[in-house]
Amino acid sequence: MIYLDNAATTPMLPCVKKKLMELIDEDFCGNPSSQHIAGENATMLVEQARENVRKMFNAQEDDVIVFTSGATEGNGIITAPDPLGYESLFLVKSAIEHYSVNATRKEEVEVSSEGVVNLLHLSDILENHWYSMVSIMLANNETGAIQPVREAAKIAHEYGEFLHTDATAAAGHIQIDFQELDVDFLTFSGHKFGAPMGTGCLIAKADVIQMLSPFIIGGNQEYGLRPGTQNVLGIVGLGAAAEYYADKWKLLDCMSHYKLLKNTFLRTLHEALPGDGDWLLNCAGVECVDSIVSIRFPGVLANTLVGLLSADGICISTGSACHSGSVEPSHVLKAMGQNDEDALSTVRVSFGLQNTIEEVKEAARKIAEKVMLLRRLC
Ligand code: PMP
Repeated sequence: MIYLDNAATTPMLPCVKKKLMELIDEDFCGNPSSQHIAGENATMLVEQARENVRKMFNAQEDDVIVFTSGATEGNGIITAPDPLGYESLFLVKSAIEHYSVNATRKEEVEVSSEGVVNLLHLSDILENHWYSMVSIMLANNETGAIQPVREAAKIAHEYGEFLHTDATAAAGHIQIDFQELDVDFLTFSGHKFGAPMGTGCLIAKADVIQMLSPFIIGGNQEYGLRPGTQNVLGIVGLGAAAEYYADKWKLLDCMSHYKLLKNTFLRTLHEALPGDGDWLLNCAGVECVDSIVSIRFPGVLANTLVGLLSADGICISTGSACHSGSVEPSHVLKAMGQNDEDALSTVRVSFGLQNTIEEVKEAARKIAEKVMLLRRLC
């Protein structure tokens, strides 16, 4: 099998596996809320993981890091109706956000045909709405396009509003500095960068965390925002992955690996399908994470292509995992101005650290072969 759907989920990093195996082998048991030594040990593990996340994102000492089950939950806490306790809170989000960024009262910021948020439109919207939470993702999970979040935060703050960024597709793929971005809230899922599934974080500036309220009721774990016994093993795994990426040189190595895989893949695809218009890169010309490529094969139904490749042991997707398999065209590609036919002929190929040059070359050749087959059949 050649697994090139790492934007859906990626295997655990070796250092994460090692850390978890050690804990499992020593029959780790302890609830961080318990007041005895076993509870204290669990608390120490959770707090160490929190510090690792703080380092990975260069968050300040007093910034608040809340462990969640992933970005869906983090986004829900931030953007669910009325998260800041204002009755008339208005969500201003880009048109390409994940579906978990949602609210009853909302307006969408347009994106360009290359999939980048239009900041002038953001300003226009903020002229007319108050008590707004602005939500602009750091990198899009379907196209990889990196968004101008720092600039969006500046605009939101000029209007006295808060800015949240969903960094799920960016974390572990580019360097992220919470302080430099100057966002109020940042969320992500761990399983997109080698931590276990069901882990993630919400990071908030110290002065805004009090404004959030939980959407489930229970204990006061995780600042009361995520009641319920913490997923200690998951958090330890997330902490191990965060420790890995907090090392700038390791992150740069990972980024070089993605770049090499992407360039090799695209070169091989070009050799196999050299015709003008045989395939098109969505978001060409804009800065993207190198771990995601979004490619359109005109005249080819992406769902069929993905199915044929899967039968040959090659895993790619038509879009985000949450909606892959759906025959609905992607809202991200539609927001970029593509018609249904174009949007339905796009596949996403996403690379992981475990992928090799040989794998991406073989996948590119196989994709070209299936595309030619499908075109002959049409
Ligand atoms: N935001 C983005 C940008 C994502 O890509 C995803 C996962 N597809 C999510 C949020 C939700 O993540 P999870 O399913 O891990 O909660």
